[in-house]
Amino acid sequence: MATYGIDLGTTYSCVARVDDTGHAEIIKNAVGDDTTPSVVYFETADSVIVGKDAKANAQLQPDNVVSLIKRQMGKDIEITVHGQRHTPESISALILRELARAAEEIGGEPVRDVVITVPAYFGVAEREATRKAGAIAGLNVLSIVDEPVAAALHYDAISAGGTKTLFVYDLGGGTFDTTVIQVSPAEIKVVCTDGDHQLGGANWDDRIVDFLLETFQQEHPEADGAATSEEFLQELAAAAEEMKKQLSSQQARRFNARYEGAVSKIELTREKFDEITADLLERTRKITERTIATAAEQGVTTFDEVLLVGGSSRMPAVEAMLKGMGFSPRKHDPDLAVAKGAAQYALIESIKVRLPDEDDGTTPGTAVEEIADQLNIPVEKVRALAGKRVATVVPRAFGIKVVDFDERNNEVFSIAHVLKANTSLPARTEPTRFATAYPDQVEIQVEVWEQSGSVESDDLADNAQIADGTISGLPRLPKGSPIDVTFEMELDGLLRVHAVELKTNKDLHIELQIKGGLSDEQVDEFRTAVARYSVSA
Ligand code: ADP
Ligand code: MG
Repeated sequence: MATYGIDLGTTYSCVARVDDTGHAEIIKNAVGDDTTPSVVYFETADSVIVGKDAKANAQLQPDNVVSLIKRQMGKDIEITVHGQRHTPESISALILRELARAAEEIGGEPVRDVVITVPAYFGVAEREATRKAGAIAGLNVLSIVDEPVAAALHYDAISAGGTKTLFVYDLGGGTFDTTVIQVSPAEIKVVCTDGDHQLGGANWDDRIVDFLLETFQQEHPEADGAATSEEFLQELAAAAEEMKKQLSSQQARRFNARYEGAVSKIELTREKFDEITADLLERTRKITERTIATAAEQGVTTFDEVLLVGGSSRMPAVEAMLKGMGFSPRKHDPDLAVAKGAAQYALIESIKVRLPDEDDGTTPGTAVEEIADQLNIPVEKVRALAGKRVATVVPRAFGIKVVDFDERNNEVFSIAHVLKANTSLPARTEPTRFATAYPDQVEIQVEVWEQSGSVESDDLADNAQIADGTISGLPRLPKGSPIDVTFEMELDGLLRVHAVELKTNKDLHIELQIKGGLSDEQVDEFRTAVARYSVSA
């Protein structure tokens, strides 16, 4: 049975598998497209539509349509539609179910073993939520893999091989991600990752909507209801995305805006489009430069390739900007590369689970040959894939809350990051020395916080608390008594924090509990609930 790669995107999703010749191929969806809008329309209490038709309803029936659910993954929120309770996991499961259903119909075999991709910046909770979404959809999630790693794997599969440093520029529909990755025959290693998770193609669409609306209103000041008409705005939004895509290959597009008998023939040239979106592109340049600087701190100063990933990187202005920065970017199926790489990764994982525990594909013997036979691919390729390691980094900084005092002796709280973003996993920090803040402390509170934005900042507002604990039963300690704090993170993102008060050696171990995640029982309940819907495109 084949294994599948699923790019579960913020705005568009995509499915691929590795065919008999070892190449990754996209499986088109029910309406013949390579990618499917990640939009769910709850048509009735028991029927759900996913994809293009759901997207067409987004503004007309906002209460029954859910979009951009990926932004909520890992959060403890509930969404009620037609009286039924949903979570980000169960909504994502509905998307996955439709993707799998369509792939079964087109591909002619059941879809069960999958790898699902996530952004490199996803933390433990978001990854776990994604895995559970797969389980709710009735899929067997072999693994979760970072999107840029998948893109790099795809690049690796179609290029000559060797050791290369890649810069992955991924501008999608709702997010922008930059990642520096080193690829070698034995290993794929993430060097650093950055991005802006509120910046994507949708922002470019919005600029076109504004432009169309303003032009229309200038020509028809009498049509004052236009700006608040759901229907008119829905039409503009759909037209805007379409115009944007066409402007990637053409120089100008026209749109006939109609509202209550008033008509405007509006032209948008690529030049004008670039002008009204220049500041958005500039934001991606700043982040690109910041990522290059972070990579330089880690000793990586040259790039063999700049890979353009994400549908929005099809905009010619992106390539032009990167060329202006001295790069020669490569565009290979920007919106399909992640799914194709995920399919490659699924193959790797399916080989690894079939191999005996201690075998990484190098042990002589029959296991590898058997697998090669089963999968119908050459033994050498199975060996190469089985030996491939993926090394990732700490997605964002972790630290503890500390208190200081200003000149009026008021408490000032901030976050001291101990485990820095982009440290290679598995990671173990040196003990970092802190001190008690008040005279006669008999207990010490330790709060673990995680950076929430892309930029490290010691401001509480830019961080989120994820765990806490207390060292208690201490003798009255003088102010300034030393405490050592060590952070450890496993490959799978599991975080351990150890704090020790040095005079008494009393200490505290925190193993990070994922907050608000669904229990196994809840996953089962949702699986039953989701299975009851009729899902279609
Ligand atoms: P996601 O962010 O969900 O992973 P994609 O990588 O597929 O999604 O990117 C989707 C975005 O790419 C959307 O904003 C879409 O409008 C945009 N897009 C797709 N094709 C083009 C194109 N030819 N030109 C410009 N933008 C495009
Ligand atoms: Mg994407």
